[in-house]
Amino acid sequence: MKLQEYHAKKLLLAEGLPVPDYAVAETAADARAAAEPYLRGPAGSVVIKAQVLVGGRGKAGGVKLAASPDAAEQVAGQILGMDIKGTTVRRVLVAPAADIVSEFYLSCVLDRSAKRVRLMGSAEGGVEIEEVAATKPQAIHHVYAHPHLGLLDFQARQLAFELGLGGAHLRAFVAIARGLYRTMIANDADLVEINPLAIVREQAADGSPRETLQCLDAKVTIDDSALDRHPELELMRDIAEEDPVDVAAREQGISFIRLDGNIGCMVNGAGLAMTTMDLIKRAGGEPANFLDIGGGAKADKVAAAMKLILADPHVKAILVNIFGGIARGDEVAHGLVEARRQQERHVPMVVRIVGTNADQAADILAEAGDPDLQTAESLDDAVRQAVAVATGATTGAAA
Ligand code: GDP
Ligand code: MN
Repeated sequence: MKLQEYHAKKLLLAEGLPVPDYAVAETAADARAAAEPYLRGPAGSVVIKAQVLVGGRGKAGGVKLAASPDAAEQVAGQILGMDIKGTTVRRVLVAPAADIVSEFYLSCVLDRSAKRVRLMGSAEGGVEIEEVAATKPQAIHHVYAHPHLGLLDFQARQLAFELGLGGAHLRAFVAIARGLYRTMIANDADLVEINPLAIVREQAADGSPRETLQCLDAKVTIDDSALDRHPELELMRDIAEEDPVDVAAREQGISFIRLDGNIGCMVNGAGLAMTTMDLIKRAGGEPANFLDIGGGAKADKVAAAMKLILADPHVKAILVNIFGGIARGDEVAHGLVEARRQQERHVPMVVRIVGTNADQAADILAEAGDPDLQTAESLDDAVRQAVAVATGATTGAAA
């Protein structure tokens, strides 16, 4: 789950990281009111930033400076309602503008192949890291945190030296790197990214100029499987920016992942779903999704799963593969028949149900008298039929 910048910054602040003060506004008038105290402060101007879950907001015109209340209101008015990569901006972050001297990149990611948390840094900040990785990979430096000891000071110092931050900012950088690691662990995040981590020019209390390191942007993604133990993070979920199909799947307790093929799959059990997808591939077909309706699948869940599958316009055939254990075959069959009665789009379906009440399931499906609903005795048969239908349908459409 991706967090909005204003939520991500809250997590950084909780670990003591240096983040400039900020407010969130949903209207231009509120943005103006939020900007006024910052405009009276030493910064003298504010930065107004679109809060959307896509990157590259700066380039898209979603990050702007304003030096007066009127300008803040006007700029916020421009950004609110703006479309950034298909997402409508509904909120802006308002913060005192930073006087940036230079920009760095710093992130913590879960490196699955190394089985460790990796800290990545680059002096090429402000630019998207994928771009740096493609054009100047030698500019990206990294260290791996120890699985038990965490990120050690010497590792953070090593990274600092590689980024050219070995001088006046060394101690601050070490504290930030360690705070980033703590943010990652405390929240079960799989990514915590600051881009830019900036050297900012400010006025000290006595009026003299000084430079500090500040986290000017923050991107955090939380491991979905860990959300159960973070109800406070679940509250930060932004449903308006999620794919409606994903939202519906989660509400129904269905594991659903959309893929590129045209055979919709409805299976109970993650392992069986993986196997079904493998067999489709082996038979020359392409699955349209991974879908695990879970244990004890009831008729309403089957109907919900059918809806998720049919929401994908590429689906040309549906393969239902149910192993009746706790789930009862007759329940599933009833659900299928009912769902087909309700569905608007007509897609051929191949059903294989074995195990508990499989015989009753076969009777229910036969009684439905649906010519486009075939049943199969074995999984191999079912897969063959589904692939034949899907490829036949594809050829038909192309002709
Ligand atoms: P992103 O484009 O979505 O990553 O949004 P960022 O928050 O990273 O902002 C993009 C760029 O805007 C940064 O790299 C900075 O160059 C600039 N920027 C962001 N905040 C400030 C600020 O407070 N002051 C100034 N002068 N520039 C800023
Ligand atoms: Mn950024």
